[in-house]
Amino acid sequence: VRISVCSFTNVIWPAEDVTVQGDTARWKGTTHAQHFCSSCGSPLFGVSDGAGESEVMLGAFDIAPTDLTPTYEQWVGRRERWLHSMGEQFAGDRTAVA
Ligand SMILES: [Zn+2]
Repeated sequence: VRISVCSFTNVIWPAEDVTVQGDTARWKGTTHAQHFCSSCGSPLFGVSDGAGESEVMLGAFDIAPTDLTPTYEQWVGRRERWLHSMGEQFAGDRTAVA
């Protein structure tokens, strides 16, 4: 058994600041649509109904920025106990734009 940590960071942009070129594959649950690369299935971004935001996965960039600092955490009930706090914490999704 091997235990590892995979850094997984998303950046939230106002929806009007995001332009998508090309086709994506899309899966939509009740209120959230997740978009994937239609060739390899890599996650690209997600959009929740009425949120006015796009949640872009940093791994979707050709050159992902490495100098960003999170200001809040979501779904903290699932976080590992040994992680230090990374800002304001939310039990589920943070829905407000700020
Ligand atoms: Zn791909």
